[in-house]
Amino acid sequence: MKSNHSNIKKAKKYLDNNECIAVPTETVYGLAGNAYSDISVKKIFKLKKRPTNNPLIVHYYNLNGLNEDCIINKEFKKLYKKFSPGPITYVLKLKKNTKISKFVTNNKNTVAIRFPKHPLIRKLLKVLNYPLAAPSANISSKLSSVSPADVKEEFGKKLKYLLKGGRSSIGVESTIINLTNKISILRLGGLNVSKINKILKKKLLIKNKSKEKLSPGLFSLHYSPGIPLRMNAKKINKGEAFILIKKRKINSKDYFFLSKNNNLIKAAKNLYPLMRKIKNRGYKKIAVEKIPNIGIGQTINDRLKRASKY
Ligand code: AMP
Ligand code: MG
Repeated sequence: MKSNHSNIKKAKKYLDNNECIAVPTETVYGLAGNAYSDISVKKIFKLKKRPTNNPLIVHYYNLNGLNEDCIINKEFKKLYKKFSPGPITYVLKLKKNTKISKFVTNNKNTVAIRFPKHPLIRKLLKVLNYPLAAPSANISSKLSSVSPADVKEEFGKKLKYLLKGGRSSIGVESTIINLTNKISILRLGGLNVSKINKILKKKLLIKNKSKEKLSPGLFSLHYSPGIPLRMNAKKINKGEAFILIKKRKINSKDYFFLSKNNNLIKAAKNLYPLMRKIKNRGYKKIAVEKIPNIGIGQTINDRLKRASKY
């Protein structure tokens, strides 16, 4: 599309000038800047109010240039072939002479990298001379953005540019796998761990407890709609919005449905927008019924658990 072409050009101009902009990805929207530029990366942290000890994910178009920044291994090659571009983030060892800004990694010797699949961010990455550091496009600890309207709600006029790419097709963040030392899952996400286990022919440990501090971003409170939330609710209490997994015939404005018929993939996609809608309607509390802890249901439960720490 012609308009896409000119929007990509505009986006590139802002990025080349060390600005940070919002970009669509298939997981959630990102707040992106030149990963090689200290100035850009510092702007991302400031705009998001993100603690500087929570490192960013670096987004690449393909394997070109990757060798200069980090050390790849055979597990990475296997997983890349099967799942990238897509909702998986790899933590790898950084190379000493990498061009990645030290602010991206908070001076760590590892870096998280991803190859996003959304066609617009791919078009953008293809024309840039650097990878993009991009955390989720939301104020730190709040709900992630999965549409241009969400991004505007989060940042308002403070954002220089928003590359619009419709609704994120997956709607939850990427699965993060640590490929340094002992391989493990650091964050549940859009790609089911069972699929990763199958390719690596082993059962990976899921180390997403905040105590372990392996992934510094895994604070206990996260993905929060800014109001209290309780999980595994059997019934609704006064003043609550009640989130149910499957649409039912109930004549109450306080009931909200994640999917028509128990579909966990659709439920994951609807999770953040539904919580955002409930908060914006002025509810002061949310109750969520028990979500099956299988497949992407595990990711939904992980996010709800963190949101419930409010
Ligand atoms: P977000 O960009 O908001 O999806 O958050 C990025 C996530 O990646 C956070 O949970 C970070 O802690 C995690 N992350 C980024 N870099 C690293 C790294 N080098 N090692 C472990 N986790 C990382
Ligand atoms: Mg985030």
